[in-house]
Amino acid sequence: MVASKTMFKIAGVLQHYDWGGTTFLTQLLQLQPEQIPIKNAEYWVGAHPKGPSILLNSNCLGAEANLYELIKANPQGYLNAYVAKKFNNTLPYLFKILDVQQTLSIQVHPTKEQAQVCFMRENNLGMPLDAPDRQFKDNNHKPELMIALSDFWLLHGFKPPRELMATLHYYQHFHNLLCHFAHEDYEAFYRYIMGMPQPMVNAHLIPLLQEERVKKQNGTLTKNDPGWWSTKFYEGKELISIDRGIFSIYFFNLVYAQPGEAIFQKAGLPHAYLEGQNIEIMANSDNVLRGGLTSKKIDIDLLLQHIAFVPTNPQKYRPPKPEPDVINYPVPIDDFAISKINLSTQKSLSACTFSLEILFCYQGATTLMSDNNKQDYLSLQAGEFAMILPNSNYHIVAQQDAICFKAYVPRPIN
Ligand SMILES: [Zn+2]
Repeated sequence: MVASKTMFKIAGVLQHYDWGGTTFLTQLLQLQPEQIPIKNAEYWVGAHPKGPSILLNSNCLGAEANLYELIKANPQGYLNAYVAKKFNNTLPYLFKILDVQQTLSIQVHPTKEQAQVCFMRENNLGMPLDAPDRQFKDNNHKPELMIALSDFWLLHGFKPPRELMATLHYYQHFHNLLCHFAHEDYEAFYRYIMGMPQPMVNAHLIPLLQEERVKKQNGTLTKNDPGWWSTKFYEGKELISIDRGIFSIYFFNLVYAQPGEAIFQKAGLPHAYLEGQNIEIMANSDNVLRGGLTSKKIDIDLLLQHIAFVPTNPQKYRPPKPEPDVINYPVPIDDFAISKINLSTQKSLSACTFSLEILFCYQGATTLMSDNNKQDYLSLQAGEFAMILPNSNYHIVAQQDAICFKAYVPRPIN
């Protein structure tokens, strides 16, 4: 590492999943559009071995310096001694931007303890890390916070009892499920649905989807109705063998977030993104257990083992209006934190890093300037990312009205 330089431009990695869009990420990040449009679902920025960021213009570090290798070679230099020790010499967070055009899988993430046990078990079975039937890619939990960049819809935890009851009453095809929720036993209820023989799933959902299609054609459904999303999933498809994940669209909370609003998904909380663009920050993990609405591997037993069968009252975080210069989004864990920075032209903000920070210039243009070395600065345009080393004092100066997002590890409280 060159001691005098504390900030570097970095580039992330596009991930091409079939639920992604074709234009949002390339336009936002000012990337060359592909010759043949392909699905760009996620953009990862961080040090996950499956897609580590590359340092740009970093001749001093080697032409193809990637963040995973750099941290591995010098964890204390890139993270600081405290974070390196606490998080096992890895950057504890991963920053993502998502473009959700089609529904993502019904999913849940494990606790750290569950991930450690299950990762070890799969290792002991001799399963290679890239084996297709491998479920645990690492030994970490994956709590995640999402901040909407557009109108955003998602499924987020089981509905509270009264709302779930109302749903079961409202749709006649669910009436015979009422007795299974009579004691408000979420576990028994969800296990019953997820364990139903396929013909019974079809008997519930085919007539329901047929009715929902008629309502959609008649214009009586909106994005606040589960039927909007169940019919979207089956748009242009025959109703033959219905994915049981469709039940979750009705029994989970359907949440709308407007741009700037955020919601946190903890371990054990079942969820699925439906549509929109967002920023996600999460623990550095790829442990996802899936239960439907996907072509990826589904393991219902494993999903059920890791779900917390409790009702959820969605808690969205709404930034104050008008927005202050800095919004610190609250997260109930110590692996990561994220702030939104609003700066009008020529205004500046001083910062002092604790561990490695990742800064994304979302709109406008900024210059980052070290307080200790005039040669140490970076110009950051909209769509560009920088990383700043630990224990650095610097200023962000807006060259045009700017919005930035900053990901970091929070300082310990004591
Ligand atoms: Zn998730």
